[in-house]
Amino acid sequence: MRLVFLGPPGAGKGTQARELAREWGVPHIATGDMLREAVAAGTPLGREARTYMDRGALVPDDVIIRLIGERLRQPDAKGGFILDGFPRTIPQADALSRLLSELGVTLDRVVFFDVSEGELLRRLTGRRSCPQCQATYHVVFNPPKRDGICDRCGSALLQREDDREATVRKRLNVYAEQTAPLLERYRKDGLLTSVAGEGKIDTIHGAIRKAVGA
Ligand code: AMP
Repeated sequence: MRLVFLGPPGAGKGTQARELAREWGVPHIATGDMLREAVAAGTPLGREARTYMDRGALVPDDVIIRLIGERLRQPDAKGGFILDGFPRTIPQADALSRLLSELGVTLDRVVFFDVSEGELLRRLTGRRSCPQCQATYHVVFNPPKRDGICDRCGSALLQREDDREATVRKRLNVYAEQTAPLLERYRKDGLLTSVAGEGKIDTIHGAIRKAVGA
């Protein structure tokens, strides 16, 4: 299974990708998570990426393309993958096509998560994440069992810097301008499937499985 999960920030791509990747035994490749790990580790990549991430802007294409090129060449990605948060621009989509053809494989589906803007704002500003294991929660819709503590690993949950309201609005604008045009491209390629991204996590999970024929 080689899939791209496409949609605005807060659409639930990460939550669904993590679960389905575990079920299918393929890597969940999330450029946002990879960048946050680099930021936490204080690497040169992390230091560069942070200046863009904290203000809700996209990290430059060449940096991301290099990162994903290295990741997709690793052995665990041979049997399939779920890409979450990549590609996000037309040049990234072009680079992905080139990379996959070099690797001699093709995408099976691009799954678009359809969620209204009001819902995205509610979700993102209430989102809390675990800095240790990357699990995500929501103060109202998906609270942890113990307030502010990760169910999975017991770490203290944080609000991401870029989940504050002003930055969230910026990220939604960046999505509309730079990422939304990819929908048309993948529709033309016959790869796009939309799923309703609002509702219960389990229902959406089922809709994705059906959409990709799993
Ligand atoms: P995410 O967790 O996917 O919302 O990503 C968080 C932030 O990481 C984004 O707001 C961007 O600054 C950066 N980022 C993640 N993926 C990409 C990408 N494919 N291209 C450029 N920037 C990215």
